[in-house]
Amino acid sequence: MQEPLVSLFLLSSVVSAGTALLAWRHRRSSPAATALAVAMLGLAWWSGSQAVLHSALPYAVLRTALALVFVGVGGAVAGFYCLGRVVAAPDWRPTRRLAALLCLEPACTVALGFLNPGSLFYRSVAAVGDPPVIEREIGPLYLAHAAFCYALLVWPVVALVRHRRQLPAAYRPQVTSLLLASTIPMAVELPAVLLGFPDDYTPVVFVLSGLAASWAVFRQGLLRLVPVARDLVVDTVTDAILVIDPLGRVLDINASGLALLRRLRPSTPDRLIGLPAVELIGPTVVGELDRGQLRDVVEAAPGCYLDFRISLLHDARGRQLGRVVVARDVSEQHAQQLALEAANASLEAQLAEIDRLRARLAEEATRDSLTGLHNRRYLVRALDRALSAGRAAGRPVAVVLIDVDHFKRVNDTYGHGAGDRALKAVARILQSSLRRGETLARYGGEEFVLVIPGATLDTAVARAEALRGACAAQPLRTRGDGAVRVTLSAGVAVTDGSDGRTASTLLDSADTALYAAKAEGRDRVIAERLTAPR
Ligand code: GH3
Ligand code: MG
Ligand code: MG
Repeated sequence: MQEPLVSLFLLSSVVSAGTALLAWRHRRSSPAATALAVAMLGLAWWSGSQAVLHSALPYAVLRTALALVFVGVGGAVAGFYCLGRVVAAPDWRPTRRLAALLCLEPACTVALGFLNPGSLFYRSVAAVGDPPVIEREIGPLYLAHAAFCYALLVWPVVALVRHRRQLPAAYRPQVTSLLLASTIPMAVELPAVLLGFPDDYTPVVFVLSGLAASWAVFRQGLLRLVPVARDLVVDTVTDAILVIDPLGRVLDINASGLALLRRLRPSTPDRLIGLPAVELIGPTVVGELDRGQLRDVVEAAPGCYLDFRISLLHDARGRQLGRVVVARDVSEQHAQQLALEAANASLEAQLAEIDRLRARLAEEATRDSLTGLHNRRYLVRALDRALSAGRAAGRPVAVVLIDVDHFKRVNDTYGHGAGDRALKAVARILQSSLRRGETLARYGGEEFVLVIPGATLDTAVARAEALRGACAAQPLRTRGDGAVRVTLSAGVAVTDGSDGRTASTLLDSADTALYAAKAEGRDRVIAERLTAPR
């Protein structure tokens, strides 16, 4: 009975079992977790059996433990084999045949350990002393079993070593821990098995191994980071991914990231890990990183627009581990957006032009093309409005119907062109005396109408007289024909809104008055009441 040794074996067993339990809980999120759980459970069993073997117990118990230890050995070997393979290639899974082989071998070894046929497994096995201690000498079948185990473990160790070399610096320590966890027990057990060295120091080794595996899992994030299937996912996405440590150095970059950097700067070196990020992605993006900007579109090179998204990485305690920069080349979308904006702007300009033209057209539709005054259609509507407003306000509305005297003679004497110019000149004279609120329109050939809201008959007559005087006083220039003097006759009508007259009947009254003015010799103004008393 070696009490300290037994305690160490038991401690080792508990540490390994604890790691196995914690790894098992991660089994859904990582294929590596199941393998690690099996390996650690194997170590726990192995260590527990060793504790029994070194305890003061009856020979039969010791002999049973000596055979059952191979359940643990088999589990540890199978677990580490699968763990190494799945970490090195995250999409690896054991085939059914491999799984059967990994279960069958320990079962056979346990049977051999019990039966020891022809003393081929143990050349000798006996209890010495009291309390009994097992002493054994290994036989050829035992060596075959040991060779099988080592052969099985060498493969993933080699795969892990090769995988580790390709990994970015940040991922290497966890693989190192895993390598230590799987190779230490092998290295220590090998001389014990092959050369018959005492295996009293194996529990310490097992504790170290369990701790190394736990460290990889729980402090270095093995199960969190490795199963991401980095090679499959990170390197196949088209977005550029760059991992930066808290000091601003590059921890990792994927294939798209490297390609993008090369496109932006052909001189980008091959080995980027450990370089300051600012040298690679420039001060603009690093500045945004430092300001805590988490998303932005940056013009990384002339015409090259990158959409940056930055995520902060924290460990379980909330300490910053680094930042992940994901960049997507959006130059094409950006160009499309610019083109769209330009098309939009031109469309808006066109719409504004159309609006302007429509307004001009609407305005022109109310104008007379020769004189530029409002036309008859506009006048009728404007007079209707003025009459309604006058009725509502209890104010009179006056209309003055003006006709150029003997205009036919102007045409006949100077020609139609001169007549047109004379009409324009009359329109200008009338227009220049127009006041706010009044409406002036060309009513027909050489007839004009002035609407004066708020005017009494006397006021309207006075305004008409003023217009007549202004026109008579102003000789009209006819190009090359000297001055033409034209006179105007006008009829005036007024309504105060109480007589029910419409625009049409009011204009009829003014026309009647105008007719009277013509009849009385022209060049005068006649008000309606003089001719049509009511
Ligand atoms: P009255 O004093 O009785 O009004 O005589 P008048 O000659 O002015 O009247 P009448 O109605 O007989 O003739 C009007 C003339 O006005 C006939 C027509 O040729 C002329 N006229 C009408 N519109 C235009 C126009 O746009 N341009 C020119 N040059 N002449 C026009
Ligand atoms: Mg006329
Ligand atoms: Mg006339």
